[in-house]
Amino acid sequence: MSEELLKLIDDTLAQLKAMQMVLMEVARITAAEKKPAQGKGLITLQEKQILLEHQICPDCGSTTFYVGPKGGQLENIKCVKCGSKFNICPPFFAERI
Ligand SMILES: [Zn+2]
Repeated sequence: MSEELLKLIDDTLAQLKAMQMVLMEVARITAAEKKPAQGKGLITLQEKQILLEHQICPDCGSTTFYVGPKGGQLENIKCVKCGSKFNICPPFFAERI
């Protein structure tokens, strides 16, 4: 193999490695952003808005919920499609249960 060709292969491999590192970083950030929303009680502001203002499940986009026990203004709802459960008090409060 010519030296020129070897250099081209080296450069290409270096570029691939750099791209892989970027992809891994993107995956890491995406996972870190998603995690808090999965935990009990934790809901992001955006998810809260989607849920309370538009009555849309922030996890799957469904608009149908089973309505569970009610206590005063508080209400337990469960998404028919994905099963995500929320404790809501529209329009102020929402958390995962
Ligand atoms: Zn859902």
